[in-house]
Amino acid sequence: MTVKAYGAHAGDQPLVSLDITRREVGAHDVQIDIAFCGVCHSDLHQVRGEWAGTLYPCVPGHEIVGRVAAVGAHVSKHKVGDLVGVGCMVDSCQHCADCEDGLEQYCDSMVGTYNGPTADAPGHTLGGYSEQIVVHERFVLRVSHAEDQLAAVAPLLCAGITTWSPLRHWNAGPGKRVGIVGIGGLGHMGIKLARALGAHVVAFTTSESKRQDALALGAHEVVVSRDPGAMAEQAKSLDLIVNTVAAPHDLDAFLSLLKRDGTMVLVGAPSTPHPSPQVFNLIMKRRALAGSMIGGIPETQEMLDFCAEHGIVADIEMIRADEINAAYERMLKGDVKYRFVIDSATLA
Ligand SMILES: [Zn+2]
Ligand SMILES: [Zn+2]
Repeated sequence: MTVKAYGAHAGDQPLVSLDITRREVGAHDVQIDIAFCGVCHSDLHQVRGEWAGTLYPCVPGHEIVGRVAAVGAHVSKHKVGDLVGVGCMVDSCQHCADCEDGLEQYCDSMVGTYNGPTADAPGHTLGGYSEQIVVHERFVLRVSHAEDQLAAVAPLLCAGITTWSPLRHWNAGPGKRVGIVGIGGLGHMGIKLARALGAHVVAFTTSESKRQDALALGAHEVVVSRDPGAMAEQAKSLDLIVNTVAAPHDLDAFLSLLKRDGTMVLVGAPSTPHPSPQVFNLIMKRRALAGSMIGGIPETQEMLDFCAEHGIVADIEMIRADEINAAYERMLKGDVKYRFVIDSATLA
């Protein structure tokens, strides 16, 4: 089936309207009418060829929400008319140790929602800046938010789960002091989720102008990281830091804020490496520096259900599909609160 999409033919060209084909619905497939798709920084890096290996045409988009239009004969999890979501993965080997543990994102054969290997034309996956998508049922999530919240649910599928997974893995909750570094698409979700999990939340930003916003998002304290006095007041006080900043920066400034046995988790993907931290800063307090990538399907469902129960959605700005190139430029300047979402009705 042919559907409308938005994508680029080369890394140095703008995104334009494209016709793409979706596979016929297989026995385990779910066909989804996409209602909205969030705009992630990864989309921009991938479509512009800033990470190695972008295949063209490239249709980005991995924060997908919509309604089930058709299901294959063996699909049991979803039915026509259900509200559903698709995040950063559309397939994996489904039988290795990572897949068995429900951590499909770490499977060596994980297939990304765009730019991943597939037998479907054109030989790589095409993402959510499109009218429809066909996905194996295992990688389709149930959405139980109200329908009028659907656009703001979309960013939960990447920004939400990317912060949820480390918060849960490192046990953010009552009695824990959790730092969130960077107040952007990821960080604004990190603040909301850590707060709802019951942790004491300290938000870190380079910009004094974000103080009121961070408090409104749920931070208990806001620290301007350029202020050495304010940073010193947080020394050895945090159990966990989720660091969402992708730009290379001084990790030691944050590692020294961890208590004994504290962990800082990096979730931003830098295009050039961070300066290496001081080993001394780790061994003195048995601190750990870790990484985390999105989240598995069971924990993504857990996060969506938790957010529906607690009324949590992303803060978004809706755009038309033909505004995407301008939106990328604004994203690069940090000029979005906090996620652009494409209204798929404007693709046609
Ligand atoms: Zn993303
Ligand atoms: Zn696997």
